[in-house]
Amino acid sequence: MRVILLGPPGCGKGTQAEIICKNFEIPHISTGDILRDNVKRGTEIGSRAKSFMDSGSLVPDEIIIGMIKDRFSEDDCKNGFLLDGFPRTIAQAEALDKLLKKMKIHIDYIINIDVPDENIINRISKRLSCSNCGDVYNLMFKKPKKEMVCDSCGFKLHQRDDDKEEVIRNRLEVYRKQTAPLIQYYNKKIMNVDGQQSINEVTKDILKILK
Ligand code: AMP
Repeated sequence: MRVILLGPPGCGKGTQAEIICKNFEIPHISTGDILRDNVKRGTEIGSRAKSFMDSGSLVPDEIIIGMIKDRFSEDDCKNGFLLDGFPRTIAQAEALDKLLKKMKIHIDYIINIDVPDENIINRISKRLSCSNCGDVYNLMFKKPKKEMVCDSCGFKLHQRDDDKEEVIRNRLEVYRKQTAPLIQYYNKKIMNVDGQQSINEVTKDILKILK
């Protein structure tokens, strides 16, 4: 199964992606995670991407498309994948179409998790991440068992630099201008899910679509 998960920053894409990928045993391809890993390891991609990420702007398409091409060539993508945070521009969507055509495969489901702007800032400002294992928590709906400590690996939790309020505002603007047009691009193929429900309810709605 091949899935694209769309939605504004902070809509819960990452959390839902983890659950779906476990359920269907497919790899979770998050371009944000791949970029953060590159920044952490100090690679060339990481150093080219960092300033864009810190300001909440998009990393240039050619870097992202190259990363996706490399990731698709890995063995675990043979039986499907879930794309989280990609595509994020029309140019990326067109490059993805070309790539899929070349690989003679297609996307089975495109799901959009819908959350209005006014809720996003509130949600993201309460998000905490583990810099060791990447687990994500939220003081509103997914609190860590012990305050500021990762349930999975015991490392200290922190707020991502790009989750700070001034950066979130830019990320939202970038989303509206550059990513939201994808909803028109994919048009009838998109299935909408109400992202304002509890994590469990959102998962249930997504699983109804995928089954
Ligand atoms: P995310 O974790 O998906 O919110 O991504 C964090 C940041 O990484 C974004 O604000 C962008 O700077 C960058 N990024 C992630 N995915 C993409 C993409 N598909 N295109 C451009 N920039 C991206």
